[in-house]
Amino acid sequence: MEFEKNITLPLLRSLTANETNNALCIEGRFYTYRELATAIAKIRRELHKVAETHIGLVANNDLETYASIFALWLEGKCYVPLHPGQPLQRCMDIIGQVGIHVVLDSSEATRYHEQNVMMTAQMEGDDPIMDAPKPCTDEETAYILFTSGSTGRPKGVPISRGNLAAFVDSFYQLGFRLNASDRCLQMFDLTFDLSVQSYLLPLLNGACAYTVDPTMIKYQAVFELLDEYHLTFALMVPSVIHYLRPYMDEIQVDEMRYSLFCGEALNMSDTDQWSRCVPNAEIWNVYGPTECTIYCTAYQYKRGKENKGANGIMGIGRAMSGVKTVIADDNGNICKAGEKGELCLAGNQLTQGYWKNDEKNHEAFFHIQGERYYKTGDICQMDKDGDILYAGRKDSQVKIQGYRIELSEIECVARKFYDDKRAVVALPIYDEARNCTIHLVVEDSDKGKASALTDYLKNFLPAYMMPTEIHYMEPFPLNANNKIDRKKIAQSIK
Ligand code: AMP
Repeated sequence: MEFEKNITLPLLRSLTANETNNALCIEGRFYTYRELATAIAKIRRELHKVAETHIGLVANNDLETYASIFALWLEGKCYVPLHPGQPLQRCMDIIGQVGIHVVLDSSEATRYHEQNVMMTAQMEGDDPIMDAPKPCTDEETAYILFTSGSTGRPKGVPISRGNLAAFVDSFYQLGFRLNASDRCLQMFDLTFDLSVQSYLLPLLNGACAYTVDPTMIKYQAVFELLDEYHLTFALMVPSVIHYLRPYMDEIQVDEMRYSLFCGEALNMSDTDQWSRCVPNAEIWNVYGPTECTIYCTAYQYKRGKENKGANGIMGIGRAMSGVKTVIADDNGNICKAGEKGELCLAGNQLTQGYWKNDEKNHEAFFHIQGERYYKTGDICQMDKDGDILYAGRKDSQVKIQGYRIELSEIECVARKFYDDKRAVVALPIYDEARNCTIHLVVEDSDKGKASALTDYLKNFLPAYMMPTEIHYMEPFPLNANNKIDRKKIAQSIK
């Protein structure tokens, strides 16, 4: 399967066929496909001077940033998003890991001074005409996203053009059809892979993507967009509808055709409530890690009927086309129906492996009969019909509003602050409504360094990973195996 046939050529066709349609609505301003094409063309012209393929992209919420993604793809390059709101040190670490020399930046002033920075908002050009896409193989990279890493550094997940083409294909295989009159939500930061579905599929089909202002509280911004523009397609993280529950009586989006959830466990009772707000929509729970390209299993919610799930959490359904799933026990044996084990994934959407990280690749990937599988860390079971039910995580990964957080990454950074001389634990604390906050506990009785610790953490961690509270406790309780007793610590700080 050639990528050009699946993404870049349809994209070029869509840009010309839909010239006068709106392509993007960003902070209330509409941009037509012609305006998008013009911005892509001017960036492509400048990219002709660039030999490197792996390009940093400051992930702003504006026309030039979206245009940059397409310009890079059409020029045979890949993008590595750098979040403008995340600590510079974290972004510099990503730049260092990938070996990025060129950064595209639409900001007024850049914070990258050691790279060759191309200021996209200052580029000139008013001609939307474009050359053919540069030929590219399926193996070449489309983007590299960095996810929270348990060893204290974010780890890179390269997604190839073949992976992305396979995702687009399996999206259509689910029966989803978008057209030029669709109005689609794009609520995700470009550093999160659900954004790729949310901008790419509308733009391939002449539809308009409505982005969420990153400075606003997400669920509020989503509520406003739904209300004002009567969106027809929305992929959201479940916490949005969880927070919207008090307002559900006011929400009525008859125009919604597809309402998808992904990124964290979907609460069945939230979904029942939500189904009344979107009475004409197909509702789907889709699931997948960044490593398996956006999402790779899907379950369609059945209105007014009993739905598949366990402990109030909606089932995640079955593998999408081209994806393989197995549930394996701790010894690598395949579990029978009804037995819990770790969900493992294979197929066309699976990444070739973490970026330059043999150790992680060795840990996370294994082979069954010659086929490479990824261990998701998600505990699941298959029911007798072949539907997968989600039960929780095996490790210390948590999700807060869809953001993937390795608690051990927070601990590593905090330990560095203390030069490894203090024990620390990061714990997820859940309230009655299952809202999660992270608490950091330091084995120390002296709170003297509290504000210095907070400042230090801020230098390395994005805002969504910052602990809501820091506690001091000395000594830490130990369990029978002489390990730090996290359960006891959690109980004592609740
Ligand atoms: P990310 O790589 O940020 O997309 O996070 C992937 C992880 O999010 C998965 O391994 C799951 O733990 C969780 N996840 C994603 N979608 C779902 C879902 N529909 N239900 C439950 N958990 C999910």
